[in-house]
Order: sequence, then C-alpha cells, then structure tokens
Amino acid sequence: MPKQTLLKINNLYVEYHSKKGVLGGKITIHAVNGVSLDIYKGEIIAIAGESGCGKSTLAKSLIQLEPVKSGEIFFEGENTLNLNKNALKNFRKKAQMVFQNPYASLNPKMKIIDILKEPLEINTDYTIEKIYETVKEKIKLVGLDESCLELYPHEFSGGQRQRIAIARALMLNPEFILADEPVSALDVSIQAQVINLIKELNQKLGITFLLITHDMSVIKYLADRVAVMYLGEIVETGKTEDIFASPLHPYTKALLNSVPQINKTSKKSLLKGDLPSPADLPEGCKFHTRCPHVMEKCKTCTPLECGASHKVRCFLYE
Ligand code: SF4
Repeated sequence: MPKQTLLKINNLYVEYHSKKGVLGGKITIHAVNGVSLDIYKGEIIAIAGESGCGKSTLAKSLIQLEPVKSGEIFFEGENTLNLNKNALKNFRKKAQMVFQNPYASLNPKMKIIDILKEPLEINTDYTIEKIYETVKEKIKLVGLDESCLELYPHEFSGGQRQRIAIARALMLNPEFILADEPVSALDVSIQAQVINLIKELNQKLGITFLLITHDMSVIKYLADRVAVMYLGEIVETGKTEDIFASPLHPYTKALLNSVPQINKTSKKSLLKGDLPSPADLPEGCKFHTRCPHVMEKCKTCTPLECGASHKVRCFLYE
C-alpha cells in the first residue's frame, strides 16, 4: 500500500538573532537550513544528530513554537504557516509535543488531575463527566493508576512523570506527537519502559511520532526511519535497518561508530573536532571541516541529495 504523507516539510529555514556578537552586535544563528522531509502516517521517524545540530529547533518549528524564516510545512495537505487562528488551534490539537525534561514540563503546583484536565477545558466543550472519563482513560493508557490523579508531580519518579507528560499529550487524541529526547533525562533502568510505551502507542493507536534524539540505540529499537541532521541540514534519510546496516554519509558513519553497543569493534570516535558554530556556517558541504574524505570541491560546492528511499547528501555518491 502506498505510504500516506502526514506532514511534508519543504525547504525550511529557521534563524535566531542574538545580541551577543563582537562589540554587542547582532549575530544570526542558522539553526535549520533548507530541510525537506516527508513524514508518513503511522510511522516513527527519528531525527538523529549531535546536540546543537538543529534537531530540537526543527521539531519546535513544525508546531510553530519557533518562528520559521521561510519554507512550507504541510499537515494533511494544508500549509500550517498560512492557517488562521482557529485552524491553527485545530492543528495544535492534532500535533502535540513531549519535552525532554518531565521535571520542568509539569507545573509543580498543580495536581495531576488538573494538569490533565486543562487541555480538555481549553479546547473542548466536554461535560465535567466526559472530562473525568477521558482523564481516567488516558492515565490508564500510559500505565498509571487512577489513584495518582490527586497527587502532585514531585510525588512521582522521573519515568512516571514522563508517562504523565505523555498522557497530557494524548488528551486531545493527537495524530502526531513530537518527542524531544523523551528518555534522556531518565535513569537508564527506566528508559526502556518509556520507550516501550511510545512503541505501544504507535502500534495500538496509530499515532505518528517524530522522535528527536542523539541516542542511536533508542533510534535502532524504536524508529521505522531515520533522518540524520548536521548543522541544520538533513544529510541522510532512510529506513532504520538500511541506515544501521549500510550508512552512507561520513557523518552518519561517525555517529554510529561512536555508539559502543552498535559498533563493538571501535572505541575511537571518527568525529574530528567540534561542531562548527551555526552562526558561522562553513561554505560548501557543511561537514567538510570534519570529514575524513574531504575533497577540494567539498569546500566550495554544496552536494545535492541523491538516492530514492535511502537518500544521502555527499559528493561521494553523486
Ligand atoms: Fe565529506 Fe565531501 Fe561528502 Fe561532505 S561532500 S561528506 S566533505 S566527502
């Protein structure tokens, strides 16, 4: 069956302006640089890359938590950047976000019942009974007991708080959830429970997930497809099994090589030097300052994306 596109990103750019430049002048941070990507209905797609590569900014810009400089974002065929206030409100019901830190994302002064009721009170005309019924249904769905509803966030472990944050994201029956490093703030011992919950919600409810993570092991277990991001650009996209079995881009190879569970033979990272500043992007291929295969043309010319289902942006494959 042909895949149905839920969200289509065309040539997206996101920039910040900061006042911290030399002599107090403004500098421009080029966080997302011409990203184009299709996200298919019902899949879990992961955006991989080092911290600072622009993956969280990309996710936030998709639901307009970050302003977009240019480009298009189509959700179910409509450009979300042109929506009026009501249509934007509807889009935000369908697209929810789960943040990295469940300690910061839940209001410590609110009981869990109130945290979960809030989206329904703001966005629906449900009766009180229907609101309570929905809250109980969602809290069960994330594997917690109704008895937790009268408690406050500080009375829970990190894993339980992340379940509550996921329950809140589920309140309006979203079709799409962006999960930004959903397990990286949790103890390793409980990460697997939250990872399994995401898998279960994807399989049982058909929710599409965009997973933002630097953890290649989480991606290997959870994602159907992977897009690898470097300095605000997607440099490789493909099915998870293809990316892990035969990575093409030198940056993807270096990322995978740095994960000991995945590559048991190599302990040394192939990544040389630091990630360049997104305020001062290298010319040509943005990876050329760290690439072991750099050629003269890589320093001045930008490689185009090539390939069909497994795509790469590198002169070695053009
Ligand atoms: Fe390396 Fe050149 Fe490929 Fe960039 S285009 S990844 S510098 S070989």
